[in-house]
Amino acid sequence: MDRFQHYIDGAFEDGSAGFESLDPATGQPWAVMPEASASDVDRAVRAADRAFCAPDWAGLTATQRGKLLYRLADLVQEAAPRLAALETRDTGKIIRETSAQIAYVADYYRYYAGLADKIEGAHLPIDKPDMEVWLRREPVGVVAAIVPWNSQLFLSAVKLGPALAAGCTVVLKASEDGPAPLLEFARLVDQAGFAPGVVNILTGGPEAGKTLTAHPLVAHVAFTGGPETARHIVRASADNLAKTSLELGGKSPFIVFEDADIDSAVNAQVAGIFAATGQSCVAGSRLLVHRSVRDAFIAQLKAKAKAVRIGAPDDMETEVGPLCSLRQRQRIEGVIAQSLDAGAKLVTGGQAPNSEGFFFPPTILDCSDAPAAPCITEELFGPVLSVLAFDTEDEAIALANATPYGLASGVFTRDLARAHRMIRAIRAGIVWINTYRAVSPIAPFGGHGLSGHGREGGLAAALDYTTLKAVWLRTSDDPIPDPFVMR
Ligand code: NAD
Repeated sequence: MDRFQHYIDGAFEDGSAGFESLDPATGQPWAVMPEASASDVDRAVRAADRAFCAPDWAGLTATQRGKLLYRLADLVQEAAPRLAALETRDTGKIIRETSAQIAYVADYYRYYAGLADKIEGAHLPIDKPDMEVWLRREPVGVVAAIVPWNSQLFLSAVKLGPALAAGCTVVLKASEDGPAPLLEFARLVDQAGFAPGVVNILTGGPEAGKTLTAHPLVAHVAFTGGPETARHIVRASADNLAKTSLELGGKSPFIVFEDADIDSAVNAQVAGIFAATGQSCVAGSRLLVHRSVRDAFIAQLKAKAKAVRIGAPDDMETEVGPLCSLRQRQRIEGVIAQSLDAGAKLVTGGQAPNSEGFFFPPTILDCSDAPAAPCITEELFGPVLSVLAFDTEDEAIALANATPYGLASGVFTRDLARAHRMIRAIRAGIVWINTYRAVSPIAPFGGHGLSGHGREGGLAAALDYTTLKAVWLRTSDDPIPDPFVMR
């Protein structure tokens, strides 16, 4: 079996314990991963804390930090086939998607490389004639970055890129599910020439995560994962009053009006829910469709869902691969069973194939008679689409906003005025009009409510890893008067 190592303080090490990683396509172990103990996590945070003040990091100019990030981006691009293959092997995400996404990962590092020396402070027109006051933007300190299994290279790039551009140091915890690509990525960080301790990468489960988020030397916890874990993280970081940014789940509405380009909307919906086998935080998992086009829309969707090529994730022809873990499949099966009991009707899918691996087919549930079924209210994180019909725009808005999440949303209409009304009315961090699932390093990404807070991508993310220092400089040569002269 393959073996992977942690990267702590510029050195590769085996970790105090190890665990086997399963290949989701076969359900069989294929590699041994190191498991971080509390003392491994503590050493990594202390190394990051030392590196934060050390001259070979703190003494670099912002432009020099940017050059290191450019080098890292080039190394990611060169290693793309290897990284994509590892992500596919360890998480089951299909090779078509991991290969395409890795190009984006390099783009994100390049964006933040270029941004490093554009994170500016400010000069203030202060209301005192003999004073100059300016604001320095300084890095917050050690960042604890925690990611879930899906898209680990991407979800760490949106944290590492801005945090390093801002001058922070990082301890990155890969998910215990599918950590191989990130542990391999550590070799590129090493080659890029970052000083020891600037970036530390380890893996392990909730225990490692708890030690990391409760560590007194951590200044900012950047987390992507589920809302329940986020609650633990906020509590654990409360003692140190560490800053948090939380990118959580969603139950995003995909809204189709009667005047939409139906063929385009169907294609966008298929990609919006079945890409990444539905294991995407922005998955358009609730289809809200105008009643007049509902039956035709569902018929087209069903035909496409049934035609999807399910298969080995490392085959370029495969369109839907396995889920990441058996636990994930069992949870999806449980929610579907409860939803059917509540009155939802199966349009297609719903039954795991009788084969090895953690496969689950594209599934559509008509929830007309069960608008409160768990498949409509809970994030499944799988290839399961739940459908509701609406008659009026107000009804569509009410349904769109009827969950405690607020991450993404999509609206398909040719009516510009209506599109603007929907943009204003939908409570979500992203509104896509006549498109879905588009992302870019330039555009901030994030949500509110149970979808979290803080933004990744864009300038906003880099600023989030900084703090302001106000500097007061007295410019007058006049002596400072004795304050007690009047006494
Ligand atoms: P999860 O919350 O179970 O785990 C995420 C990470 O947190 C893992 O690395 C895990 O080891 C760690 N962790 C678990 N318990 C912890 C604790 N007590 N303290 C600290 N760390 C702990 O999430 P998951 O099941 O791996 O991923 C799926 C979730 O992630 C979904 O809800 C999905 O929507 C969300 N997600 C959100 C985004 C986004 O950008 N908003 C992107 C991808 C995934």
